[in-house]
Amino acid sequence: MKEALIAQLRRIVGDAQVLDQGDLTAYELDWRKRSRGKALAVVRPADAGQVAEVVKACAAAGVSIVPQGGNTGLAVGSVPDESGTQVVLNMARMNAIRAIDPDNLTMTVEAGCVLQTLQEAAEQAGFLFPLSLAAEGSCTIGGNLATNAGGTQVLRYGNARELCLGVEVVTAAGDIWEGTSGLRKDNTGYDLRDLLVGSEGTLGIITAATMKLYPLPAAQLTAWAAVPSLDHAVRLLGLAHRHLGAGLTGFEVMGRFALGLVARHFPQQRVPFLDDGGTPWCVLLENSDSESESHARERFEALLEQAVEQGCVTDAVVAENLGQAKALWHVRESIPMAQAEEGLNIKHDISVAVSRIPAFVAETDALLQREIDGVRLVNFGHLGDGNLHYNVQAPEGGDARRFLEEQEERVNTLVYDQVERFGGSFSAEHGIGSLKAHKLQKHKSPVALGMMRAIKQALDPRGTLNPGRVLGDLPR
Ligand code: FAD
Repeated sequence: MKEALIAQLRRIVGDAQVLDQGDLTAYELDWRKRSRGKALAVVRPADAGQVAEVVKACAAAGVSIVPQGGNTGLAVGSVPDESGTQVVLNMARMNAIRAIDPDNLTMTVEAGCVLQTLQEAAEQAGFLFPLSLAAEGSCTIGGNLATNAGGTQVLRYGNARELCLGVEVVTAAGDIWEGTSGLRKDNTGYDLRDLLVGSEGTLGIITAATMKLYPLPAAQLTAWAAVPSLDHAVRLLGLAHRHLGAGLTGFEVMGRFALGLVARHFPQQRVPFLDDGGTPWCVLLENSDSESESHARERFEALLEQAVEQGCVTDAVVAENLGQAKALWHVRESIPMAQAEEGLNIKHDISVAVSRIPAFVAETDALLQREIDGVRLVNFGHLGDGNLHYNVQAPEGGDARRFLEEQEERVNTLVYDQVERFGGSFSAEHGIGSLKAHKLQKHKSPVALGMMRAIKQALDPRGTLNPGRVLGDLPR
């Protein structure tokens, strides 16, 4: 059966595009190197027609498919399980930019297009494509849509869903739905685009998408501010909204311990205000201005002056040029890598209403420190969106692997129960994948879960697409 299916897949996409021998680590190992699966084969289609044929062939053979973009996802959704029976459908070859429509302010791209390529193509055409995250050099727009990725500009432009005007999708039956018309208004029944976005490859395979473009800002300025507490950071956010309006395009918060890890593992990077001992939190702000750099700078300086007067900011620097701005962003984006250098850790991607974040962090920090000796808290994230990466590092000098084996489930339960108590979400932007499928059962309302199962059953009755992801194992 296996040989017959592989022969059929080779006929569809070509011999060289079906990999079932040799080292397939790049397709079978998740980005955090925490889950290693075994693929029946890796298939690399060239167009939506081939994707449709592959889906039909796999469905007929009773073989399930794991869609894969850049394989940078953090919820273990894009690698096969260990059974050796799943086909990985890698979208990398479908990377064309089909069209840029300057009047409609849209671009239509294939799903395997790397995010950074989209950004660059938009810029060359004189526009901004604002989705931005640290994995942008490898992740694909298909993966971004499938996970409804967020990143650093959500505050102003929304997450991947808000940036998407339409998708082309191959269904579990192997039909192609061409939904990339680029309409801003289309109230013709259920919104299938919004259903597919964020479905993590469980309802359909996104083969192309039409995305929104924006005018390039005339100037973009970045500031780094030291704040005395998270309460002050939230007050600074309020001031920034009032002073900068739609110009406020980034507002990131970073705890001292997280920044200390960057300084420790990447000593070539300069981390502002880390040496002054008393700075518990820093904030990275971005102001994008449609007028001019001097206008942007004036507004930024007025904001920071008022913030200092009100005690929200103890010190601040505004980048003088693009190089300095990039260096500041680089510090923020290096935190996950610095954490990885420090050792295995427990990651949480949570959201809570912005106003409740200081209380959430204070209470949850205290709880964890009380419950688990020597625990180290790595806290940073997109405060402007109420989204924190509330991560937990093993005690200094301890055996991190053993710590995770013994404590990960307990830590997750403590943190996610706190999130629920604060009315938040235990997965803000990374999705569910297989990593958090059991947590979804606990924290999502039974009514919502019932509707989600009904949708999955209706659109993929055989369970061909990414089984076990999001909803966990469903009865066949
Ligand atoms: P993959 O990892 O390949 O896949 C992710 C999921 O989407 C899987 O379930 C897969 O089956 C499905 N999928 C992929 N392509 C398709 C398709 N064409 N059709 C249907 N399903 C598909 N995320 C954020 O939201 N914000 C951040 O700031 C952020 N920062 C990150 C920083 C780093 C360093 C890293 C490594 C990751 C970060 N992420 C962040 C995670 C983020 O979700 C992914 O980087 C990205 O959105 C996934 O894209 P990908 O192409 O790598 O998808």
